[in-house]
Amino acid sequence: MDSAARASLAQHYEAVLERLDKAVSMAGRAAGSVRLIAVSKLHPAEMVAAVAELGQADFGENYVQEALEKREQLGAMPGFAKEISWHMIGHVQSRKAPLVAGSFTLVHTLDSVKLASAMEKHLAKSGAGQNVLIEVNVGEESQKSGIDAASLHELADHVLQSCPHLHVQGLMCIPPVFDAGEGARPYFARLRRLAEELRTYTGLALPELSMGMSGDFEWAVLEGATIVRVGTDIFGQRPPKKA
Ligand SMILES: *Cc1c(COP(=O)(O)O)cnc(C)c1O
Repeated sequence: MDSAARASLAQHYEAVLERLDKAVSMAGRAAGSVRLIAVSKLHPAEMVAAVAELGQADFGENYVQEALEKREQLGAMPGFAKEISWHMIGHVQSRKAPLVAGSFTLVHTLDSVKLASAMEKHLAKSGAGQNVLIEVNVGEESQKSGIDAASLHELADHVLQSCPHLHVQGLMCIPPVFDAGEGARPYFARLRRLAEELRTYTGLALPELSMGMSGDFEWAVLEGATIVRVGTDIFGQRPPKKA
């Protein structure tokens, strides 16, 4: 990256931090109560390093292979020594569970009994725990990942009864509309209510709500997001995914 690209990245990053601070304050919430995840999917390790050098600690990736490769590249980068917390925010196929379980700060996309069992099986061998969020298909879209709200209890019961190495921290969603600003708000409100209901049902604290992206995170913060996931407004447009 040349110095102009670096300066532009820093400017975009600072602008997102400012928007987030403002949204948190407008929502009447405590400063620093919402964690920003910089979504670096399809962007090179050099850009992750540049944003990490600006002080960003949490990064999100969607594709397992890409995430693991990028982490290796950063580990081997001369002079780069920042600690990064990695979040898996993309759909995880059950057969990839062994690559994911125990390797991320937080897996945002637990969405089936099958995936929970596959992760548990791997974790039981090492004894490691894994913090997870349950991804809810808040728009009830047939082609989308995420579990339907109607099956939330069943998945939570399964994890509580059969997956002692999985620690459910809350819920995550990707609304059916994006770059729609306030249009996404009802979906964020729905996720908040589902979390409240699941808290009562399970007795778990479920402190985290992961919701809100570049085009709508202010509205997610108003509805109680504790984690927002921002890619484009920090890194710029993503290059196309290679086949
Ligand atoms: C890509 C992605 C984001 C970031 O989206 P932007 O619109 O680029 O901010 C957030 N969450 C998930 C699950 C994503 O896949």
